[in-house]
Amino acid sequence: MSEIFERILQEKQNEIDLLKAREASSNKAWQGHFRQYEELVQAAFMALDNNSPECHFHLKQVLVKQGWCTMCECSPCECEGQYD
Ligand SMILES: [Zn+2]
Repeated sequence: MSEIFERILQEKQNEIDLLKAREASSNKAWQGHFRQYEELVQAAFMALDNNSPECHFHLKQVLVKQGWCTMCECSPCECEGQYD
């Protein structure tokens, strides 16, 4: 009886550990996305406020760094060299 109970307990513990690991990794991914979003919004406001070529260039750099294609405006790029 106690063996079965221990086995069930161990199974539940394994499930909990798995869920905890998943939650930690999804939190980490979410934080990464949020940092990217913040960086993009900052660059966008800088470009709006100053309207200088440098700020526009910086905004473009941030977009490209985050994986956006400035030709087809997709992430990931979908134009596959059709603008070459
Ligand atoms: Zn593209």
